[in-house]
Amino acid sequence: MYNAKAFAAASDTSPLALTTIPRRAPGESDVQIEILFCGVCHSDLHQVRDEWKESMPTVYPCVPGHEIVGRVTAVGSSVTGFKPGDLAAVGCMVDSDGTCSECKAGQEQFCANFTLTYNFPDAHLGGVTFGGYSDSIVVDERFVLHVPNNLDLAGVAPLLCAGITTYSPMRHWGVTKGKKVGVVGLGGLGHMAVKFAHALGAHVVVFTTSPSKKEDALRLGADEVVISKNADEMEKHVGSFDFILDAVSADHDINAYLNLLRRDGNLTLVGAPEKLSVAPFSLIMGRRSLSGSPIGGIAETQEMLNFCGEQNITADVEVIPIQKINDAYERLLKSDVKYRFSIDMASLKSDS
Ligand code: NAP
Ligand code: ZN
Repeated sequence: MYNAKAFAAASDTSPLALTTIPRRAPGESDVQIEILFCGVCHSDLHQVRDEWKESMPTVYPCVPGHEIVGRVTAVGSSVTGFKPGDLAAVGCMVDSDGTCSECKAGQEQFCANFTLTYNFPDAHLGGVTFGGYSDSIVVDERFVLHVPNNLDLAGVAPLLCAGITTYSPMRHWGVTKGKKVGVVGLGGLGHMAVKFAHALGAHVVVFTTSPSKKEDALRLGADEVVISKNADEMEKHVGSFDFILDAVSADHDINAYLNLLRRDGNLTLVGAPEKLSVAPFSLIMGRRSLSGSPIGGIAETQEMLNFCGEQNITADVEVIPIQKINDAYERLLKSDVKYRFSIDMASLKSDS
């Protein structure tokens, strides 16, 4: 065991602050990574503030962060895929049982015994897992990803959650050329969804509450932008979408978007506000469906990273020092991020 530096929240109302956490010494199948950048997901904020207490209550101290990219510093004796000096990335999961049908199918995100990167029981050290707002992490090789070497690392980090969480449902629901695809909420997840839907050849319409994001949405790959508060603009799209991805972090009127689906169209929720209300007729009419989607499996995450390498896709990031994390959370709540904060972990080294 060794000590790592980290930023943690001590309670649901405390700001994050510098602390020391235990990390295990790398075991035979482990990879130890010096973290270079960690993206800031809205889930970090939900978890730190215990906004999911019904389903995933927070254990304090809480070290969030599941968009991790860094460099390998040590590997265990049975590790074959990584060596010291390699780039490596870790997303939302750090373990699963590896034996169930979901794991065998490469769908570890559905394993009943998976371990999330933070706030999950830690089988090695007891207590809970600590995430990427830290200078290093030790993870089983099965959950470590390879990073294409042509991409900017600050912009790669958010691919590990915002990227895979939007890529996976688009692949599942068959987003391709000729499909009309909506993206609701132009934040961290939403802006990645726009990039992927555009790269997959779809006609992309962004729905935003922020008129100031219109130009950016077009630059990111949208064909059309709708200011969702404008009922006339919404009305023009009724019954026309094959697929809509909803990436909004707060309660909002989901029925307004279900009504934009064509017959048999699907709306997938990736945004996770505490609750939403659905009017049954929004689904019954047009035989529409509503579903959700959690992150993605490890093989698909690697596929997504390789796709990003080929297509030169990264997140648009504002790089921040870790000391600005509490301000960054306040700005997330105001939808004031273009379009993902990425923490430069070198800033943690200088903090004492
Ligand atoms: P984010 O960067 O804060 O973006 C959320 C966006 O939602 C905002 O930029 C804003 O877009 C829109 N929005 C915010 N408040 C709103 C309101 N009151 N009404 C309507 N729109 C509003 O958050 P994120 O990191 O992308 O995460 C989005 C959600 O996905 C969070 O709930 C997060 O926990 C969840 N998530 C789920 C998974 C999964 O596996 N399913 C993975 C990661 C994250 P506009 O300014 O364009 O309106
Ligand atoms: Zn996330």
